[in-house]
Amino acid sequence: MTSHCIFCKIIQKSLPSQIVAETDDILVIKDISPKAPIHYFFLPKKHIKDLRELTPDDSKMAANLLLMAGILAEKENTAFRLVVNNGEEAGQVVFHAHVHFLAGKKMKHDF
Ligand code: AMP
Ligand code: ZN
Repeated sequence: MTSHCIFCKIIQKSLPSQIVAETDDILVIKDISPKAPIHYFFLPKKHIKDLRELTPDDSKMAANLLLMAGILAEKENTAFRLVVNNGEEAGQVVFHAHVHFLAGKKMKHDF
């Protein structure tokens, strides 16, 4: 928990969010400004800035996150894209690592 971090506050439930799924190590919420008909993101409950701060101790959480993406996509019966912005140059705006889950529209084969 980092006191200035908006996503830590969402994880602590001191800020509201639309929760899609929750486990011991991950929270999945709806993005407040969706870029696709379905736009969730996956938050590791542990505060790390971006994926460059992952350690081997985080490997179970990272695997659980991918498994959860597959499970949600199966549930929604949809193809999906995962996007992770790591660092300002890459478009990251909130510096608590998160994985975007985008689905529900035909996506172009570019970035
Ligand atoms: P990124 O550019 O990868 O750092 O993405 C940050 C994302 O967080 C953006 O897609 C925002 O729309 C989203 N976001 C910011 N504040 C909130 C919030 N309070 N609840 C849900 N999503 C948020
Ligand atoms: Zn945080």
